[in-house]
Amino acid sequence: MFSKILVANRGEIAVRVIRACKEMSIKTVAVYSEADRNALHVRLADEAICIGPPRSEHSYLNVPTIISAAEITDVDAIHPGYGFLSENAHFAEICDSCNITFIGPGAKTIRLLGDKIAAKDVMRKAGVPIIPGSLTAIKNKEDALNTARRIQYPVILKAAAGGGGRGMRVCHNDVRLVSALMTCQAEAQASFGSSDIFVEKYIEQPRHVEFQILADRHGHSIHLGERDCTIQRRHQKLVEESPSPAVDAKLRRKMGEMAIRVAKAAGYTTVGTVEFLLDREGNFYFIEVNTRIQVEHPVTETVTGIDLIKEQIRTAFGEGLNMKQDDVVIRGWAIECRINAADPSNGFSPSPGRIQVYHQPGGPGVRVDTHVYAGYEVPPYYDSLLAKLIVYGRTRQEAIRVMQRSLDEFIVEPIRTTIPLHKQIFSDPTFWRGHISTDYVDQLLGVRET
Ligand code: ADP
Repeated sequence: MFSKILVANRGEIAVRVIRACKEMSIKTVAVYSEADRNALHVRLADEAICIGPPRSEHSYLNVPTIISAAEITDVDAIHPGYGFLSENAHFAEICDSCNITFIGPGAKTIRLLGDKIAAKDVMRKAGVPIIPGSLTAIKNKEDALNTARRIQYPVILKAAAGGGGRGMRVCHNDVRLVSALMTCQAEAQASFGSSDIFVEKYIEQPRHVEFQILADRHGHSIHLGERDCTIQRRHQKLVEESPSPAVDAKLRRKMGEMAIRVAKAAGYTTVGTVEFLLDREGNFYFIEVNTRIQVEHPVTETVTGIDLIKEQIRTAFGEGLNMKQDDVVIRGWAIECRINAADPSNGFSPSPGRIQVYHQPGGPGVRVDTHVYAGYEVPPYYDSLLAKLIVYGRTRQEAIRVMQRSLDEFIVEPIRTTIPLHKQIFSDPTFWRGHISTDYVDQLLGVRET
């Protein structure tokens, strides 16, 4: 097994990875920017190295500095967490060339799946259902218009290299499509370094259902069931649960088989997520693969009892899977709320600053993954995630009740957080019934505004 791992990340995920390493007797190296000197991951790791100024392009995205930190501390592997360099094929290649294991599926697979158009093409050829749309990047206005007319409006414009729910545009007619094209291309270039965009049929009122994949380097892949991430704002997830209220055993088997087909078609190893949209008629379509650990992985850990970070490290080291598909048993219900430093009553504007009072919930069925403590200063430079509140119940109803009382116990002051919005969601009968789609939060906020 690896003897020392550098964690190329910050926040709760860096803490989460360090915890897993400790339990596996693996030494850890934290890296941090000048804004994160007092961060929890720095305190918990065995060693810590400052990698530069606060802005992430000078620190957490600075490949030469991170590689130097890894060489100085003589680590065998780098865990990239999520975000930052986690889906950067170039970084994975550099790690390989320095004889450092990149804990992920490998540069080739990351590159293939990082291009949504190429990934859809591979999956279509493998017989996986995909959403109708462009087969190549949009060449010009006529190309986009022809595709949209062929698949029929509404359509959605997406960046081939996109991520984080950003830069997508829904278009209902030719005029909107033409006016959105240029902005979408420019945004894609600025945010993702590639102006390649494509048109896809816009699925109305879908659910987002994703499957957790676990694969070793010896040709074995299994899935650990689904997560329902339908509760989103602007295509970004807010609440996740496992299992999905919309998936029964038969659909789970079908979608799970497809998820494994996706993993095999991409030569996938370690942990990954195959994302699908489920339409109102119960048809599902592949949208993309996330080639890293997901923010929402704890809900799967809770219902399967499997530690995904440990499995990720083991499979990256080259160990074979120590379980078969039939060994995976889903028990009870888990739900996660993302507690962000953002103000839902003011367009989710960021809310950095010092946390003076912090109290997190506890008791049966409660897990909090966080890097926050009383006196912690939330820096303005990074993602706004402060904590993940994960609860467990034998049934969905029970999990909802645990979540409600946990949200009531949670105190983060004086900064604004998403806790009030979560309280609103968890007391809403529509959410209780579980009959929702990805426009749920907009509808909920709209109702509140009138
Ligand atoms: P990203 O990589 O930026 O997260 P995804 O392709 O994973 O983008 O999509 C994120 C979310 O955007 C989905 O969960 C869904 O809510 C919405 N979305 C994406 N594609 C479509 C589509 N074709 N029709 C309807 N909604 C979509």
